Amino acid sequence: MIKKYIMTPGPTPISEEVLMEHAKPLMHHRSPEFSKVFMEVTEKLKKLFKTKNDIFILTSSGTGAMEAGVTNFFSRGDKVLVASIGNFGERFKKISSMFGLEVISLDYEWGDAANPEDIKKALDDEPDIKGVMVQFSETSTGAINDIKAIGNIVKSYPAIFIVDAISGLVASDLRTDEWGLDIVIGGSQKGLSAPTGVAFISVSEKAWKFNEKSDIPCFYFDLAAAKDYSQKTPPQTPWTPGISIVVALNKALDMLFEESLEKVFGRHRVLALATQKAVEKLGLKLFVKDENKRGFSVTSVMIPDGVNAKELTRIMRVKYGVTIAGGQGKVAGKIIRIGNLGYFGIFDTIIAVAALEIALNELGYKFEFGAGTAEAEKIFIKNNYLND
Ligand SMILES: *Cc1c(COP(=O)(O)O)cnc(C)c1O
Repeated sequence: MIKKYIMTPGPTPISEEVLMEHAKPLMHHRSPEFSKVFMEVTEKLKKLFKTKNDIFILTSSGTGAMEAGVTNFFSRGDKVLVASIGNFGERFKKISSMFGLEVISLDYEWGDAANPEDIKKALDDEPDIKGVMVQFSETSTGAINDIKAIGNIVKSYPAIFIVDAISGLVASDLRTDEWGLDIVIGGSQKGLSAPTGVAFISVSEKAWKFNEKSDIPCFYFDLAAAKDYSQKTPPQTPWTPGISIVVALNKALDMLFEESLEKVFGRHRVLALATQKAVEKLGLKLFVKDENKRGFSVTSVMIPDGVNAKELTRIMRVKYGVTIAGGQGKVAGKIIRIGNLGYFGIFDTIIAVAALEIALNELGYKFEFGAGTAEAEKIFIKNNYLND
């Protein structure tokens, strides 16, 4: 028997409680019964996003909500600024170009984060920029952007601020209203540890004004239609939603608030820190050099010469049942990524580090065997995490 562990930054492991909800018989999506769940989930998402803005639940993966964030608010030829620090920043550029927007790129080295001052300068240089798009946590590198600082800048310009928080939400605090975030995007299968297939998008008053002027056609992802339907009695969605996923999410959100958001953020911070320190003890280098730019969703680790990254992740997965992620885009084969996002505890991190050590050893890499797991345990004790 090989017991399986999913330790990627998405999809993430799902708790038994959430899976049991997901397995319940289907309700009809136009029934008052489902409407009640739908409204509860919407309200709980507002609490998670820290917003009074509208939030819509879309039945798609996170990328669908990214597309909705482009097609609902801009017109062909509009200028948008994309600050790209990795693969998902590149995705914002591709979607924007595909729908006829003029993309101004602010590209950073992968592993780095966006400099808010550069964004200010770009907005000053080109006052007709209509939107600024960035990732909160850039999952392809493990870096995190200073959304608060960027929000503070963008809010005094005419542009709207679009944040892809798909992997950052739940791992770190995000304050939509306080930080002036016009559009925030999330997904079910990352920090929330629910099944894949549902995404969320919040829309500010400022963004709704852009929506009125947008000339890009959208049908399935039409947020004005979503708003109309949310105001019906009972409130509902235009199309059949991922009913079971929404039901499962209701439970996942309850579990977050039961633990308390503060503790959830603390848990992610300690798990990420333990992973970082553990791999450093193995003599490996972290991909995000500046510790202040490291997020708490995923740890990216550089693979030393002489070790084949694909073979490493393959051994971990096939022989030991531990699935971690490799690198994406231009860092494919150069890094591995160990998640600790969502339904994740200290012993999961120990498992990830132990499997990494065993696989590295098999590939002939020299290090002090057991040093990584010992370091992770020390971090947990030092941070008092075992007593919590
Ligand atoms: C996972 C992820 C996406 C894409 O989400 P899908 O659900 O795979 O479509 C986009 N942005 C970030 C930051 C992500 O982590």
